[in-house]
Amino acid sequence: MARKKIAIIGVGKIAVDQHLPVIDKSRDFQVAATVSTRGIGHGGLPVFHTPAELYRAMPEVKLVAVCTPPGVRHAIVREALDAGMDVLMEKPPTPTISELDDLVAYAKKKKRVLFQTWHSQYNAAVDQAKKLLKKEGVASVRIDWRESVRKWHPEQEWVWQPGGFGVCDPGINALSIFSKIMPFPVFVESARLSFPANRQTPVDVEIAFKSGEANQPKLSAGFNWLETQGEIWTITIETGRGNQVKLEKGGTVLRVNGVVKVEKPSEKYEGIYERFAELLKKKKSDVDSAPLRLVADAFLLGARENVEPFEW
Ligand code: NAP
Repeated sequence: MARKKIAIIGVGKIAVDQHLPVIDKSRDFQVAATVSTRGIGHGGLPVFHTPAELYRAMPEVKLVAVCTPPGVRHAIVREALDAGMDVLMEKPPTPTISELDDLVAYAKKKKRVLFQTWHSQYNAAVDQAKKLLKKEGVASVRIDWRESVRKWHPEQEWVWQPGGFGVCDPGINALSIFSKIMPFPVFVESARLSFPANRQTPVDVEIAFKSGEANQPKLSAGFNWLETQGEIWTITIETGRGNQVKLEKGGTVLRVNGVVKVEKPSEKYEGIYERFAELLKKKKSDVDSAPLRLVADAFLLGARENVEPFEW
């Protein structure tokens, strides 16, 4: 079958690191064009400065992947839906829940497919952990998500601007795993957000969660963006039956009582595009808003503290 033509909107780090190479190898999709404010192309394909130019010039393109920062996503996705596109959105979807709700409703109204990617959910170890927790219940969960903003978002000023999420940009990846694997609803109970004195988003966040479960599992998360010793992307769980479960390396490794049960190289973006192909076939949208809601609640409830200024 012919590969479906897709255009990439926003040719930044994640488009270059993942979307473009993964689509180039995909059986289902082929890159048809890019939309780039800086005019960044891909393999000699057409480049447009605005989505409107793409929609006018290439009516045969019916799919777009929106890889911009979240602040501009709502307007870009609405415009794409108006142009008859089915849309894949990078995470975090939008800076506010009301914008995300609007996009879900608008895609439905326009009868288009809207797919919100949460790349960390696309790991076999995460699926296995979900099954285990469903069977054994949860006594406690501790999320430790630490990385270097200088490595993962080099010189990206948007991450420090209002709506840029700060350390919750990677932290939301952990929460996308957390909300997927938990066998019951979880809520933010309290949060502490530490802001560099010269920036508008937090560099360090500590969250305590609660649930309606009778056994009152202890649930917490810590995100930090100044880690210099390599990434720590770990979720440590004690199940209701007392087994020690660890999801390590961003959800790619599952250990139970110290023994590795699943260890697979990350094929998250391959999984994302397979899922998108499936959704297009079924003409079905898939937007999980739970991770964004948890982050929003942490900002609503968070106590603010100022810490040392941040410079690149
Ligand atoms: P980035 O390197 O800053 O790239 C974003 C690109 O979007 C920019 O290069 C620019 O591309 C375009 N853009 C920026 N501002 C825009 C505006 N006002 N209007 C239209 N286009 C604009 O950021 P990134 O790291 O790729 O992150 C993009 C998204 O992917 C974020 O939501 C992020 O959370 C997510 N993500 C990032 C990573 C990572 O490792 N960095 C991993 C997973 C997911 P042009 O110059 O081509 O227009």
